[in-house]
Amino acid sequence: MIDEFIKKNLLASFRMAQFNQAFYKDYISSFDELTTWSKRLREELKKAVSFSTLVAVKKIESSDHGTQKVLFSRISDDKCFESVLMRHGDGRNTVCVSCMIGCPVGCLFCATGKMKFVGNLSAQEIVDQVLHFARLLKKEKQSLSNIVFMGMGEPLLNLDQVMESIKILNSAEKMGFGIRRITISTSGITPKIFELMKRGYKGRLALSLHAPLQKLRESIIPIAKKYELLELVSAVKAFATRTQLRVSYEYILISGLNDKPTHAQKLVRLLSKTDPELVHVNLIPYNPVGKAAFIRSSSNAIHAFADVLTHAGIQNTFRVTMGDDIKAACGQLAAE
Ligand code: SF4
Repeated sequence: MIDEFIKKNLLASFRMAQFNQAFYKDYISSFDELTTWSKRLREELKKAVSFSTLVAVKKIESSDHGTQKVLFSRISDDKCFESVLMRHGDGRNTVCVSCMIGCPVGCLFCATGKMKFVGNLSAQEIVDQVLHFARLLKKEKQSLSNIVFMGMGEPLLNLDQVMESIKILNSAEKMGFGIRRITISTSGITPKIFELMKRGYKGRLALSLHAPLQKLRESIIPIAKKYELLELVSAVKAFATRTQLRVSYEYILISGLNDKPTHAQKLVRLLSKTDPELVHVNLIPYNPVGKAAFIRSSSNAIHAFADVLTHAGIQNTFRVTMGDDIKAACGQLAAE
């Protein structure tokens, strides 16, 4: 839209650079703050271009103020979705962006998967989520450390818009956000992992693995029926080898389902034959969603599971649950 405005009004090319500086780097809160442009030009811009594709309808903070969840409505059709800002204890700030409204994958442990799939978000709608939180952090004299595509939706099923948004976020002329601070998390769409490599994606990858066996995985991630587990994991290993970036294997621990030491041993076998530096298992306690029949694993079960991985030399962490009191934790996003 801004490109069209500049072209239509025959503005000099330096106007685009001024816009990009103010909008993507200085995180202005309205076009009135674009003071490198004349007032007349700003007024013309306001009439022609919307400042954001989104409206923040509601925000909720967790009781410890570490997590903020925002309900956005997109101005094109008023459809709503959520994104999350996580303020970590060590000073890092991570935005968990959504790339869809609802999700067609339908994972059984996920609130988004239980919603009706409404549609994809555009690249600018993804970028505007990031800008919203970047502006908020600027007011607090803080900055954004990481961007993760772990909100609503499967990024690899909206790959064109996700890649376009990453181009805007990473481009030196626009936001200039380091590519290695961006993570795409996928439920495992094998051919699209190869496509990511073909497109030269240099950011990080996380795989929502959640089970070390094909049938068990299919029972909680319906789309897993389409993609054979060994082929999926070997695609992910190929991505790690190509980029030399450590892949995060996400593993939600569900009591009695996938949290036994035998599952951990099978996971060790699945992740073997790869450089241990390129493997990291992120153990996530299950976060309750609606009336799901699942139960969070006990602390003993989680530690026993982690011990098996550690003894096999697999780096692992136990993710601290953030924002579960406001339903902003992993798997809890929905457009409430
Ligand atoms: S976990 Fe991710 S891929 Fe699965 S339903 Fe939820 S949003 Fe979709």
